Amino acid sequence: MTDRIRDFLRLRRPEGPCLVIDLDVVRENYNAFAKALPDSRVFYAVKANPDPAVLRLLADLGSSFDCASVAEIDMALAAGATPDRISFGNTIKKERDVAAAFARGVRMFAIDCVEEADKIARAAPGARVFCRILCDCVGAEWPLSRKFGCSPEMAVEVLEHAHRSGLEAYGVSFHVGSQQPNPNAWDVALQAAGGVFRTLSERGIQLRMVNLGGGFPAKYLREMPAVQTYGRAIFTALRKHFGNRIPETIIEPGRGMVGDAGMIKAEVVLISKKSAEDTQRWVYLDIGKFGGLAETMDEAIRYPIRTRHDGDRTEPCVIAGPTCDSADVLYEKTPYELPISLAIGDEVLIEGTGAYTQTYSAVAFNGFEPLKAYAI
Ligand SMILES: *Cc1c(COP(=O)(O)O)cnc(C)c1O
Repeated sequence: MTDRIRDFLRLRRPEGPCLVIDLDVVRENYNAFAKALPDSRVFYAVKANPDPAVLRLLADLGSSFDCASVAEIDMALAAGATPDRISFGNTIKKERDVAAAFARGVRMFAIDCVEEADKIARAAPGARVFCRILCDCVGAEWPLSRKFGCSPEMAVEVLEHAHRSGLEAYGVSFHVGSQQPNPNAWDVALQAAGGVFRTLSERGIQLRMVNLGGGFPAKYLREMPAVQTYGRAIFTALRKHFGNRIPETIIEPGRGMVGDAGMIKAEVVLISKKSAEDTQRWVYLDIGKFGGLAETMDEAIRYPIRTRHDGDRTEPCVIAGPTCDSADVLYEKTPYELPISLAIGDEVLIEGTGAYTQTYSAVAFNGFEPLKAYAI
Protein backbone atom coordinates (compact mmCIF):
# COMPACT_ATOMS: atom_id res chain seq x y z
CA MET A 1 0.00 0.00 0.00
CA THR A 2 1.44 3.35 -1.00
CA ASP A 3 1.14 6.69 0.81
CA ARG A 4 -0.75 8.12 -2.17
CA ILE A 5 -3.41 5.40 -1.94
CA ARG A 6 -3.65 5.85 1.85
CA ASP A 7 -4.11 9.62 1.47
CA PHE A 8 -6.65 9.21 -1.33
CA LEU A 9 -8.80 6.87 0.78
CA ARG A 10 -8.54 9.11 3.85
CA LEU A 11 -9.46 12.31 2.01
CA ARG A 12 -12.00 11.00 -0.51
CA ARG A 13 -13.71 8.33 1.64
CA PRO A 14 -15.27 6.62 -1.41
CA GLU A 15 -18.45 4.68 -0.59
CA GLY A 16 -18.56 0.96 -1.37
CA PRO A 17 -15.80 -1.34 -2.58
CA CYS A 18 -13.35 0.31 -4.99
CA LEU A 19 -10.01 -0.18 -6.66
CA VAL A 20 -7.37 2.53 -6.39
CA ILE A 21 -4.44 2.45 -8.83
CA ASP A 22 -1.25 4.36 -8.08
CA LEU A 23 0.10 5.44 -11.47
CA ASP A 24 3.54 6.10 -9.95
CA VAL A 25 3.86 2.35 -9.33
CA VAL A 26 2.88 1.59 -12.94
CA ARG A 27 5.60 4.02 -14.09
CA GLU A 28 8.17 2.37 -11.80
CA ASN A 29 7.19 -1.07 -13.09
CA TYR A 30 7.45 0.03 -16.73
CA ASN A 31 10.91 1.47 -16.08
CA ALA A 32 11.96 -1.73 -14.27
CA PHE A 33 10.93 -3.85 -17.27
CA ALA A 34 12.71 -1.52 -19.68
CA LYS A 35 15.86 -1.74 -17.57
CA ALA A 36 15.74 -5.50 -16.90
CA LEU A 37 15.13 -6.40 -20.56
CA PRO A 38 16.76 -3.47 -22.39
CA ASP A 39 16.67 -5.10 -25.82
CA SER A 40 12.98 -6.11 -25.66
CA ARG A 41 10.07 -3.96 -26.75
CA VAL A 42 7.32 -3.82 -24.13
CA PHE A 43 3.78 -4.64 -25.33
CA TYR A 44 1.58 -4.08 -22.28
CA ALA A 45 -1.21 -6.71 -22.15
CA VAL A 46 -4.21 -4.37 -22.12
CA LYS A 47 -6.61 -6.95 -20.65
CA ALA A 48 -4.83 -6.83 -17.27
CA ASN A 49 -6.11 -3.30 -16.67
CA PRO A 50 -7.48 -1.16 -19.51
CA ASP A 51 -8.08 1.95 -17.39
CA PRO A 52 -7.63 4.94 -19.76
CA ALA A 53 -5.23 6.63 -17.34
CA VAL A 54 -3.05 3.50 -17.20
CA LEU A 55 -3.00 3.21 -21.00
CA ARG A 56 -2.24 6.92 -21.46
CA LEU A 57 0.66 6.78 -19.00
CA LEU A 58 2.14 3.70 -20.69
CA ALA A 59 1.69 5.20 -24.17
CA ASP A 60 3.55 8.33 -22.98
CA LEU A 61 6.35 6.19 -21.54
CA GLY A 62 6.82 4.56 -24.95
CA SER A 63 5.07 1.25 -24.38
CA SER A 64 3.45 -0.74 -27.15
CA PHE A 65 0.24 -2.70 -26.59
CA ASP A 66 -0.89 -6.32 -26.84
CA CYS A 67 -4.61 -6.20 -27.66
CA ALA A 68 -7.13 -9.04 -27.77
CA SER A 69 -10.04 -7.32 -29.55
CA VAL A 70 -10.90 -4.35 -31.75
CA ALA A 71 -12.26 -2.57 -28.66
CA GLU A 72 -8.88 -2.93 -26.94
CA ILE A 73 -7.14 -1.69 -30.11
CA ASP A 74 -9.37 1.40 -30.06
CA MET A 75 -8.54 1.98 -26.39
CA ALA A 76 -4.79 1.81 -27.15
CA LEU A 77 -5.22 4.20 -30.09
CA ALA A 78 -7.28 6.58 -27.95
CA ALA A 79 -4.47 6.52 -25.38
CA GLY A 80 -2.06 7.81 -28.00
CA ALA A 81 -0.45 4.64 -29.36
CA THR A 82 0.19 4.53 -33.09
CA PRO A 83 -0.88 1.37 -34.98
CA ASP A 84 2.74 0.23 -35.37
CA ARG A 85 2.81 -0.05 -31.56
CA ILE A 86 -0.16 -2.44 -31.46
CA SER A 87 -0.20 -6.21 -31.77
CA PHE A 88 -3.45 -8.16 -32.21
CA GLY A 89 -2.26 -10.91 -29.90
CA ASN A 90 -5.37 -13.04 -29.58
CA THR A 91 -5.10 -16.28 -31.59
CA ILE A 92 -8.91 -16.44 -31.85
CA LYS A 93 -10.23 -13.62 -34.05
CA LYS A 94 -13.21 -13.10 -36.32
CA GLU A 95 -12.10 -12.36 -39.87
CA ARG A 96 -14.05 -9.08 -39.85
CA ASP A 97 -12.18 -8.03 -36.69
CA VAL A 98 -8.89 -8.77 -38.43
CA ALA A 99 -10.09 -6.54 -41.28
CA ALA A 100 -11.14 -3.81 -38.83
CA ALA A 101 -7.71 -3.90 -37.16
CA PHE A 102 -5.98 -3.83 -40.55
CA ALA A 103 -8.09 -0.80 -41.55
CA ARG A 104 -6.85 0.94 -38.40
CA GLY A 105 -3.24 0.31 -39.46
CA VAL A 106 -2.43 -2.71 -37.28
CA ARG A 107 0.07 -5.00 -39.03
CA MET A 108 1.01 -7.62 -36.44
CA PHE A 109 -1.18 -10.62 -35.65
CA ALA A 110 -0.93 -13.81 -33.56
CA ILE A 111 -1.84 -17.18 -35.08
CA ASP A 112 -1.63 -20.80 -33.98
CA CYS A 113 -3.10 -22.73 -36.94
CA VAL A 114 -3.36 -22.54 -40.73
CA GLU A 115 -7.08 -21.68 -40.50
CA GLU A 116 -6.26 -18.46 -38.63
CA ALA A 117 -3.35 -17.75 -41.02
CA ASP A 118 -5.83 -17.96 -43.91
CA LYS A 119 -8.08 -15.37 -42.24
CA ILE A 120 -5.11 -12.98 -41.86
CA ALA A 121 -3.96 -13.57 -45.44
CA ARG A 122 -7.44 -12.61 -46.70
CA ALA A 123 -8.27 -9.74 -44.34
CA ALA A 124 -4.78 -8.31 -43.66
CA PRO A 125 -2.68 -9.13 -46.73
CA GLY A 126 1.07 -8.87 -46.25
CA ALA A 127 0.83 -8.44 -42.46
CA ARG A 128 3.33 -9.82 -39.98
CA VAL A 129 2.32 -12.96 -38.15
CA PHE A 130 3.85 -14.78 -35.24
CA CYS A 131 2.86 -18.31 -34.27
CA ARG A 132 2.15 -19.18 -30.67
CA ILE A 133 3.56 -22.45 -29.40
CA LEU A 134 2.19 -24.49 -26.52
CA CYS A 135 3.89 -24.16 -23.18
CA ASP A 136 3.28 -26.42 -20.21
CA CYS A 137 3.06 -23.49 -17.72
CA VAL A 138 4.56 -25.64 -14.93
CA GLY A 139 4.66 -23.75 -11.64
CA ALA A 140 2.46 -20.84 -12.75
CA GLU A 141 -0.20 -19.82 -10.23
CA TRP A 142 -2.62 -18.92 -13.04
CA PRO A 143 -1.74 -21.37 -15.87
CA LEU A 144 -3.04 -20.63 -19.36
CA SER A 145 -3.58 -24.28 -20.31
CA ARG A 146 -3.87 -25.67 -23.81
CA LYS A 147 -6.33 -23.16 -25.15
CA PHE A 148 -3.69 -21.22 -27.11
CA GLY A 149 -0.75 -22.38 -29.19
CA CYS A 150 0.27 -25.40 -31.20
CA SER A 151 3.17 -27.83 -31.06
CA PRO A 152 6.53 -26.49 -32.30
CA GLU A 153 6.38 -29.00 -35.19
CA MET A 154 3.03 -27.63 -36.25
CA ALA A 155 4.24 -24.03 -35.82
CA VAL A 156 6.82 -24.72 -38.54
CA GLU A 157 4.05 -25.76 -40.93
CA VAL A 158 1.78 -22.85 -39.93
CA LEU A 159 4.52 -20.27 -40.49
CA GLU A 160 5.58 -21.82 -43.80
CA HIS A 161 1.94 -21.78 -44.89
CA ALA A 162 1.68 -18.11 -43.85
CA HIS A 163 4.83 -17.30 -45.82
CA ARG A 164 3.43 -18.98 -48.93
CA SER A 165 0.17 -17.04 -48.44
CA GLY A 166 2.00 -13.72 -48.79
CA LEU A 167 2.25 -12.94 -45.08
CA GLU A 168 5.49 -12.06 -43.32
CA ALA A 169 6.39 -15.06 -41.15
CA TYR A 170 7.77 -12.91 -38.38
CA GLY A 171 8.33 -15.07 -35.34
CA VAL A 172 7.23 -17.29 -32.51
CA SER A 173 5.40 -16.50 -29.28
CA PHE A 174 4.61 -18.33 -26.08
CA HIS A 175 3.31 -17.62 -22.59
CA VAL A 176 4.88 -19.45 -19.66
CA GLY A 177 1.74 -19.08 -17.52
CA SER A 178 0.64 -16.10 -15.50
CA GLN A 179 2.21 -15.38 -12.10
CA GLN A 180 5.19 -17.56 -13.00
CA PRO A 181 7.50 -17.81 -9.98
CA ASN A 182 10.31 -19.56 -11.89
CA PRO A 183 12.59 -17.31 -14.00
CA ASN A 184 13.92 -20.44 -15.74
CA ALA A 185 10.47 -21.26 -17.16
CA TRP A 186 11.45 -19.35 -20.32
CA ASP A 187 14.36 -21.73 -21.00
CA VAL A 188 12.28 -24.68 -22.22
CA ALA A 189 10.07 -22.46 -24.37
CA LEU A 190 13.09 -20.71 -25.91
CA GLN A 191 14.61 -24.08 -26.76
CA ALA A 192 11.45 -24.95 -28.70
CA ALA A 193 11.39 -21.50 -30.33
CA GLY A 194 15.02 -21.91 -31.40
CA GLY A 195 14.11 -25.20 -33.06
CA VAL A 196 11.32 -23.52 -35.06
CA PHE A 197 13.75 -20.79 -36.18
CA ARG A 198 16.35 -23.37 -37.35
CA THR A 199 13.91 -25.63 -39.20
CA LEU A 200 12.36 -22.71 -41.07
CA SER A 201 15.79 -21.29 -41.87
CA GLU A 202 16.65 -24.60 -43.54
CA ARG A 203 13.53 -24.08 -45.64
CA GLY A 204 14.66 -20.59 -46.62
CA ILE A 205 12.40 -18.65 -44.23
CA GLN A 206 14.17 -16.36 -41.77
CA LEU A 207 12.12 -15.57 -38.67
CA ARG A 208 13.12 -12.44 -36.80
CA MET A 209 11.19 -12.15 -33.56
CA VAL A 210 10.48 -14.04 -30.34
CA ASN A 211 7.54 -12.86 -28.28
CA LEU A 212 8.39 -13.84 -24.69
CA GLY A 213 4.81 -13.25 -23.48
CA GLY A 214 3.81 -12.30 -19.95
CA GLY A 215 4.06 -14.33 -16.76
CA PHE A 216 6.10 -11.82 -14.75
CA PRO A 217 4.66 -11.90 -11.24
CA ALA A 218 3.03 -9.37 -8.98
CA LYS A 219 3.78 -9.61 -5.27
CA TYR A 220 0.94 -11.28 -3.39
CA LEU A 221 1.61 -13.22 -0.18
CA ARG A 222 4.69 -15.10 -1.45
CA GLU A 223 7.97 -13.35 -2.18
CA MET A 224 8.82 -13.39 -5.89
CA PRO A 225 12.14 -12.88 -7.69
CA ALA A 226 12.77 -9.34 -8.96
CA VAL A 227 12.25 -8.51 -12.62
CA GLN A 228 16.06 -8.22 -13.06
CA THR A 229 16.33 -11.91 -12.16
CA TYR A 230 13.86 -12.73 -14.94
CA GLY A 231 15.77 -10.49 -17.34
CA ARG A 232 19.05 -12.26 -16.62
CA ALA A 233 17.55 -15.77 -16.87
CA ILE A 234 15.88 -14.89 -20.18
CA PHE A 235 19.08 -13.43 -21.61
CA THR A 236 21.01 -16.55 -20.59
CA ALA A 237 18.39 -18.78 -22.24
CA LEU A 238 18.43 -16.66 -25.43
CA ARG A 239 22.23 -17.03 -25.65
CA LYS A 240 21.99 -20.75 -25.01
CA HIS A 241 19.39 -21.43 -27.71
CA PHE A 242 20.20 -18.76 -30.31
CA GLY A 243 23.97 -18.29 -29.85
CA ASN A 244 25.18 -15.07 -31.46
CA ARG A 245 22.00 -14.72 -33.50
CA ILE A 246 19.73 -13.39 -30.79
CA PRO A 247 16.44 -12.37 -32.45
CA GLU A 248 14.37 -9.27 -31.78
CA THR A 249 12.31 -9.86 -28.65
CA ILE A 250 9.15 -8.45 -27.19
CA ILE A 251 7.56 -8.95 -23.78
CA GLU A 252 3.87 -8.66 -22.91
CA PRO A 253 3.65 -8.01 -19.18
CA GLY A 254 0.16 -7.57 -17.77
CA ARG A 255 0.04 -8.62 -14.11
CA GLY A 256 3.69 -7.65 -13.53
CA MET A 257 2.99 -4.14 -14.83
CA VAL A 258 -0.14 -3.26 -12.86
CA GLY A 259 -0.82 -5.94 -10.21
CA ASP A 260 0.98 -4.29 -7.33
CA ALA A 261 -0.12 -0.79 -8.40
CA GLY A 262 -3.68 -1.36 -7.23
CA MET A 263 -5.48 -1.91 -3.97
CA ILE A 264 -9.12 -2.65 -3.27
CA LYS A 265 -10.87 -1.10 -0.31
CA ALA A 266 -13.68 -3.33 0.96
CA GLU A 267 -15.78 -3.74 4.10
CA VAL A 268 -16.72 -6.60 6.40
CA VAL A 269 -20.49 -7.11 6.07
CA LEU A 270 -20.91 -10.06 8.40
CA ILE A 271 -18.91 -12.39 10.62
CA SER A 272 -20.65 -15.57 11.77
CA LYS A 273 -20.34 -19.29 12.48
CA LYS A 274 -22.27 -22.24 11.11
CA SER A 275 -22.85 -23.98 14.46
CA ALA A 276 -21.99 -23.52 18.11
CA GLU A 277 -19.04 -25.92 17.71
CA ASP A 278 -17.76 -24.40 14.49
CA THR A 279 -14.06 -23.59 14.84
CA GLN A 280 -13.93 -21.29 11.87
CA ARG A 281 -15.49 -17.88 11.50
CA TRP A 282 -17.03 -16.95 8.18
CA VAL A 283 -16.06 -13.45 7.13
CA TYR A 284 -18.30 -11.98 4.43
CA LEU A 285 -16.95 -8.98 2.52
CA ASP A 286 -18.79 -6.54 0.25
CA ILE A 287 -16.67 -7.84 -2.66
CA GLY A 288 -16.27 -11.38 -3.95
CA LYS A 289 -15.77 -13.43 -7.09
CA PHE A 290 -18.38 -11.46 -9.03
CA GLY A 291 -17.21 -8.06 -7.78
CA GLY A 292 -13.71 -8.36 -9.24
CA LEU A 293 -11.93 -11.12 -7.30
CA ALA A 294 -12.48 -13.78 -9.99
CA GLU A 295 -8.88 -14.96 -9.75
CA THR A 296 -9.64 -16.47 -6.36
CA MET A 297 -11.26 -19.24 -8.45
CA ASP A 298 -9.86 -22.55 -7.13
CA GLU A 299 -8.12 -20.30 -4.58
CA ALA A 300 -5.43 -19.70 -7.23
CA ILE A 301 -4.46 -16.17 -6.31
CA ARG A 302 -4.16 -15.37 -2.60
CA TYR A 303 -4.22 -11.65 -2.05
CA PRO A 304 -2.67 -10.01 1.01
CA ILE A 305 -5.50 -8.61 3.14
CA ARG A 306 -4.77 -5.80 5.60
CA THR A 307 -6.98 -4.66 8.47
CA ARG A 308 -6.59 -2.06 11.21
CA HIS A 309 -6.15 -4.96 13.65
CA ASP A 310 -3.01 -6.36 12.02
CA GLY A 311 -0.63 -7.57 14.73
CA ASP A 312 -3.46 -8.90 16.92
CA ARG A 313 -3.86 -12.64 17.45
CA THR A 314 -5.32 -14.35 14.37
CA GLU A 315 -7.47 -17.37 13.64
CA PRO A 316 -8.26 -19.21 10.40
CA CYS A 317 -11.35 -17.83 8.63
CA VAL A 318 -13.38 -18.67 5.57
CA ILE A 319 -13.69 -15.55 3.40
CA ALA A 320 -16.71 -15.11 1.14
CA GLY A 321 -18.35 -12.49 -1.04
CA PRO A 322 -21.74 -10.83 -0.58
CA THR A 323 -23.78 -12.42 -3.40
CA CYS A 324 -26.37 -15.20 -3.14
CA ASP A 325 -24.29 -17.60 -5.25
CA SER A 326 -22.66 -20.39 -3.29
CA ALA A 327 -19.64 -20.25 -5.64
CA ASP A 328 -18.90 -16.82 -4.21
CA VAL A 329 -16.43 -18.11 -1.60
CA LEU A 330 -12.88 -16.80 -1.88
CA TYR A 331 -10.86 -18.91 0.54
CA GLU A 332 -12.16 -22.04 2.26
CA LYS A 333 -10.01 -25.05 1.34
CA THR A 334 -7.03 -23.15 2.68
CA PRO A 335 -8.55 -20.87 5.31
CA TYR A 336 -7.17 -17.38 5.74
CA GLU A 337 -5.64 -16.06 8.96
CA LEU A 338 -7.44 -12.90 10.08
CA PRO A 339 -7.31 -11.04 13.41
CA ILE A 340 -9.77 -12.28 16.02
CA SER A 341 -10.57 -8.61 16.78
CA LEU A 342 -11.84 -8.04 13.20
CA ALA A 343 -15.45 -6.87 13.45
CA ILE A 344 -18.50 -6.22 11.30
CA GLY A 345 -18.20 -2.85 9.58
CA ASP A 346 -14.37 -2.84 9.55
CA GLU A 347 -12.61 -1.74 6.41
CA VAL A 348 -10.23 -4.25 4.80
CA LEU A 349 -7.59 -3.47 2.19
CA ILE A 350 -6.90 -6.11 -0.44
CA GLU A 351 -3.45 -5.57 -1.89
CA GLY A 352 -1.99 -6.47 -5.26
CA THR A 353 -5.34 -6.08 -7.01
CA GLY A 354 -4.33 -3.82 -9.91
CA ALA A 355 -4.52 -6.65 -12.49
CA TYR A 356 -7.45 -8.80 -13.56
CA THR A 357 -9.99 -7.36 -11.15
CA GLN A 358 -12.09 -4.42 -12.30
CA THR A 359 -12.91 -5.78 -15.77
CA TYR A 360 -13.76 -9.16 -14.25
CA SER A 361 -16.52 -7.64 -12.14
CA ALA A 362 -20.09 -8.44 -13.18
CA VAL A 363 -22.35 -5.61 -14.35
CA ALA A 364 -25.03 -5.99 -11.71
CA PHE A 365 -25.19 -9.55 -10.42
CA ASN A 366 -27.59 -9.51 -7.47
CA GLY A 367 -27.81 -5.76 -7.92
CA PHE A 368 -24.21 -5.14 -6.85
CA GLU A 369 -22.57 -2.35 -8.86
CA PRO A 370 -19.48 -3.11 -10.95
CA LEU A 371 -16.25 -2.33 -9.11
CA LYS A 372 -15.41 1.38 -9.23
CA ALA A 373 -11.83 2.36 -10.00
CA TYR A 374 -9.76 5.48 -9.38
CA ALA A 375 -6.38 5.98 -11.04
CA ILE A 376 -4.36 8.53 -9.09
C1 LIG B 1 -2.88 -12.29 -20.77
C2 LIG B 1 -1.74 -12.23 -21.71
C3 LIG B 1 -0.54 -11.64 -21.34
C4 LIG B 1 -0.29 -11.08 -19.96
O1 LIG B 1 0.06 -12.08 -19.07
P1 LIG B 1 0.52 -11.75 -17.58
O2 LIG B 1 0.83 -13.06 -17.00
O3 LIG B 1 -0.57 -11.02 -16.92
O4 LIG B 1 1.75 -10.89 -17.69
C5 LIG B 1 0.46 -11.58 -22.27
N1 LIG B 1 0.30 -12.08 -23.52
C6 LIG B 1 -0.85 -12.67 -23.91
C7 LIG B 1 -0.96 -13.19 -25.28
C8 LIG B 1 -1.90 -12.77 -23.02
O5 LIG B 1 -3.02 -13.36 -23.40
